[in-house]
Parts: sequence; C-alpha cells; structure tokens
Amino acid sequence: MERYYFHSVTLDTTKCKGCTNCIKYCPTEAIRVRNGKAVIIKERCIDCGVCIRVCPYHAKKAVTDPLDSIKEYSYKIALPAPTLYGQFGPDYSRERIVLALKQYGFDYVFEVARAAEIVTEVTDQYMLNKDIKKPAISSACPAVVRYIQIRFPNLIDNLLRIESPMEIAAALSRQEVNEKNGIPYEKIGVFFISPCAAKVTSVKAPYENHKSNVDGVLSIKDMFLPLLDIMKKQGEITSEPFSLSSAIGVSWAGTGGESSAINDGRRIAVHGIHNVNEILEQAVQGNLDNIDFLEVLACPEGCLGGPLTVENPFIAKVNLNNEIDKIKKNHAHSMLP
Ligand code: SF4
Ligand code: SF4
Repeated sequence: MERYYFHSVTLDTTKCKGCTNCIKYCPTEAIRVRNGKAVIIKERCIDCGVCIRVCPYHAKKAVTDPLDSIKEYSYKIALPAPTLYGQFGPDYSRERIVLALKQYGFDYVFEVARAAEIVTEVTDQYMLNKDIKKPAISSACPAVVRYIQIRFPNLIDNLLRIESPMEIAAALSRQEVNEKNGIPYEKIGVFFISPCAAKVTSVKAPYENHKSNVDGVLSIKDMFLPLLDIMKKQGEITSEPFSLSSAIGVSWAGTGGESSAINDGRRIAVHGIHNVNEILEQAVQGNLDNIDFLEVLACPEGCLGGPLTVENPFIAKVNLNNEIDKIKKNHAHSMLP
C-alpha cells in the first residue's frame, strides 16, 4: 500500500513557471521539473520552506489552518511562539500582543516560551546522563529532525528524546483549563501561532503516528494584520494582565537561545539549513566528539527567519532582544529589596 505523506509546503502549479530556481536550493533534492512544472517528492521533503523563500513567482506556499477554524471550539487557547513578539515594532510589547490575542477571541493564552523553559530544565537533567550519545542534538526544529532521518540516519540516536515546547504547551494548557474551569477536553481548541511550516506537518502528520496535542496551526503571517489592527486601538495598558514567561523561554525564538539557556557543557548553535548540513557532516565524521550539545535550526536566524513570519529576521531579532532586555530589567527590579 502506498504510504500517505502530509506536507505543509505545497506547490501552486498555476503559478509555477518551471524556472528550476527552487531545485538549486532544496537541501534534500526533493524537487524535480516535469512537463515544465516543479514537482515535490514527498518522501524527501522536510518542509524547511527554503523553496518558499527563493521562488520568484510565489508558487510555493505553506498550508496552515484558516483563522476561522478557532470558531469550531467553544473554548479557545492560543499558543504564541516567541517569534511572534519579534514581528511588531518597539511600540508593541509582549503584553500588548498577548492582550491582543485575547481581544481577537482566544479565551486563554499560554506562551510557548513557558514550555521552552520546561524543556530547558529537562535538557539540563538529560545532559547529566553519561550514557547519552554526544553531541546531543536538539530536536526542537522538526525540519532538522526530518533532515537527520533522511540524510544522517547515523545521528538519529544523538537526537534529544524530549517533546517540543509546542506539544508541552498544548498538553499543559488543555489540562489547566480542564481542571480550573471544568471544560471538557473535546470542547477546548488549542491553536499554535506558528512561524514554521514544518511544525504544521508535525501536528498534522506526527512522527511515529503519535497524536499531536495541538488542534490547529495558524500562521504568524495570517495573524499579523488582525493583531496589529487590534493593538492600534488598545490605548494604554496599565498593568500586566497575564503571567508572562521569563527571558529564557523568549530567547528560544532566535539562534543560540536554546543552547545558551542550558547550564553546562560545550555547545554549538548553527542556523540555516546549509550550515546545518555542514555541521552534521562534521558530527558524522566524528569531529564533534568534544562537543556536548548541538543546537541546529533550519531557518536563517532560527525561527525568527521561519517561512511563516512577516518581519525581516534581523529586524525581528532587534525587536525580540528589546523585549528580552525589558524582561531582564523587570526581573532585576522585582528582585530589589
Ligand atoms: S520545503 Fe525544503 S525540502 Fe521541501 S521541497 Fe521545499 S526546499 Fe525542498
Ligand atoms: S528554525 Fe524554527 S521556523 Fe525554521 S523550520 Fe526550524 S522550527 Fe521551523
């Protein structure tokens, strides 16, 4: 029986001119041109989104859930990826963005950054285990995990066996709402606000057929204008209306965020799928045996450069760093006697 593959990244054949630009950049040689149109070979595609960025005719796109899909649930939870905070300029703080999600129609907002902090703690414990294969490779980027499965099967045992922050956030938030408000699980819709096409695939077609805790994935691109519109009308925010995560979790959006948060060891952070390829080659050749932890993110500048984002990743990085500085200052202030 033919195996079924779901991929978020798809081709709009009406726009494709068969120019072969995408073929040159695809890291897994997953694209061919047949009858003058590109064809994606499903078994090879890792949903990295490189072809979306390089197609001059915008013929590649990432399929996500429509914004209206939240209406299918009576109680709606938003899981904003920390990358969302880098998309708006300095006038739009994290507090404003979280409030805007509530005003948009979500009943509860659970920051994925909070779950990233949990993953950091679990990783610290994991790294103490002397039996793990080094370098331990982060499993946070589903495009890289898939890349390792396809291109570097010898490194599969190096991957961290830890759930992603998105999955942990989904499970915890659903449980919290069920226990606090008595709302049945099936009436709760959990929606990830995503910079990432590969995350869509990991929700719709989870690896090893585990069921995802996430009910829908909305793209940052689709949410951007509605949220901006709401924030422009917000007026003054006088107090922090929600419990917000610390700087550690928010830092995960950019390159180096995950690896610098863990306590110890020699760590390398690499971003951009072609750089990832080079470092994994080094790992296979045994040149990284003195490295403890490898953070590998497929997109340039990490998730800030994800294919479903709006802002230039370098500008987004400045925006995010401003937020991180504010969190650190507030934290230092709250620690004063
Ligand atoms: S998403 Fe990545 S792996 Fe898939 S076809 Fe496009 S460039 Fe190739
Ligand atoms: S770097 Fe982030 S946005 Fe890009 S593929 Fe990996 S998880 Fe997705």
